[in-house]
Amino acid sequence: MKLEATGLVKRYGAHAALDGAAFSTGEHEARVIALLGPSGGGKSTLLRVLGCLLVPDEGRVSLDGRDLPRDEDGAMRERRGNGFVFQGYNLFPHLTAFQNITLPLQEVHGMSAVQAGQRALELLHRLGLEGHEHKRPSQLSGGQQQRAAIARALAPRPKLLLLDEPTSALDPVMTGEVLDVIRELAEGGQSIVLATHEISFARKVADHVVFLAGGKALECSTATEFFQQPRSELARQYLEGLSRYR
Ligand code: ADP
Repeated sequence: MKLEATGLVKRYGAHAALDGAAFSTGEHEARVIALLGPSGGGKSTLLRVLGCLLVPDEGRVSLDGRDLPRDEDGAMRERRGNGFVFQGYNLFPHLTAFQNITLPLQEVHGMSAVQAGQRALELLHRLGLEGHEHKRPSQLSGGQQQRAAIARALAPRPKLLLLDEPTSALDPVMTGEVLDVIRELAEGGQSIVLATHEISFARKVADHVVFLAGGKALECSTATEFFQQPRSELARQYLEGLSRYR
């Protein structure tokens, strides 16, 4: 995918979570874009803008040369074509893993029960959840819940999969399980935008990095460039700080 943003502003009250963010992946065809940067820097807000969950107050974003819609109907259509996974667990607690996938496919995407069921089983098995299809979230481990959430996000075959710190609530073993799944998806060609603090993982899977701090994109470069030679002092400090304990 090719992403370009200019003058992005998104305010929460008086606070600008995005404060004139501008970046471009240029002609580089990025499959996985990692949003990195200190907490509060605007990663999550940018991810929501890219996925059309939020419309920015100012500025524009283009994806593969097409401007993202600014009107509510257009944003809603765009949003339905994307898959989202957030940091906490996003599954409906009263439904099984299987139903968590089939319900949105039927209700939002108009699929028949039979088709939705087939798709749910295909994805649950692909994500290693065979035998767990009919468990509720409370009967699954954190890693299994997050894999079920990824299965749900993938079920309608999204153009773009947007992951917001999908492993931040998991222990190291479960984090590894979920990161393996994300890497397989990336290798399979799924376009992914990922906000994360998992630097070593981002280094392995990301093609491109957008480094955000204070609502501004301080860097946008290929992952190789960013990790080898970050241009801003803040990015250097950020990478050093994170790698010190890993
Ligand atoms: P990050 O994902 O990098 O931690 P966020 O995009 O979540 O950054 O947040 C950027 C800034 O916007 C932070 O200062 C945060 O407190 C603020 N913010 C985010 N969401 C909201 C909200 N719903 N209401 C008010 N302030 C928010």
